[in-house]
Amino acid sequence: MYQDSRRRFENAGAITGSTVLALVIPFLGPLIYLFIRPPEYLTDAHDRELETLALEAQVEGLRCPECEAVVGPKFLVCPMCTAPLREPCRRCSEPLEPSWRVCPYCAAPASPSSSSFSEETRIS
Ligand SMILES: [Zn+2]
Ligand SMILES: [Zn+2]
Repeated sequence: MYQDSRRRFENAGAITGSTVLALVIPFLGPLIYLFIRPPEYLTDAHDRELETLALEAQVEGLRCPECEAVVGPKFLVCPMCTAPLREPCRRCSEPLEPSWRVCPYCAAPASPSSSSFSEETRIS
């Protein structure tokens, strides 16, 4: 009984709410929706699309800058021409992108160049 009445009440509230909304703003509501929502949605969708494309390029389209060979996202060197692609993290040895300033895996500062990398290794 209680659950049934509660369900009825909620249904009635929802129906009343949507009816009032439809009666009060029969033109204004959809108009506002048309003017405000779609641009936001399109921009969001566009951004998401670009992000997805960039991500796909990062994951699938990685190529060696020297010989254009397809390389994995964690390759330290190109297996085809041995060109250096990334530096391993000093602390956790995860491959770091050259543009990264800090290791995303262990938060250790990334080495800016290979010379400082070997230097730091010698010190520690
Ligand atoms: Zn290569
Ligand atoms: Zn690390």
